[in-house]
Amino acid sequence: MHQDGKTSIFINKEEHMLRQRFTIMHELGHFLLGHLGDIPFARSEEECRPAEEQAADKFAIDMLAPACVLWGMRLQTPEEIAKYCQISIAAATFRAERMKLLYQRGMFLTHPLEQRVYARFLHYIRKNRKHDL
Ligand SMILES: [Zn+2]
Repeated sequence: MHQDGKTSIFINKEEHMLRQRFTIMHELGHFLLGHLGDIPFARSEEECRPAEEQAADKFAIDMLAPACVLWGMRLQTPEEIAKYCQISIAAATFRAERMKLLYQRGMFLTHPLEQRVYARFLHYIRKNRKHDL
């Protein structure tokens, strides 16, 4: 919502914290991906198309569970991803499926932006990396 020169995201504080975090990133995704039009917004969340909803969900999961960070920490299962990324098990299950494909490709840190994300998380990754058994 844009009002009085400020853009705001409203969340339902009755919802679970994990859901609130995902909702914030989802709505931020709509905003940053230009789904809402120019300020004052021409469109609302309710007017977004299914493809835009999917893109906003992808944005949210990419932000909350960056693939290169999961790779760096060697996280693979939905339970591990949910724990470290503080996302729902449903979102983590979705992410784990995607990670299977990404692990097969083995193309991490090939893009400069991904390298920057990884560098930002490097301390966290080293501190929390899952050790091989
Ligand atoms: Zn949406």
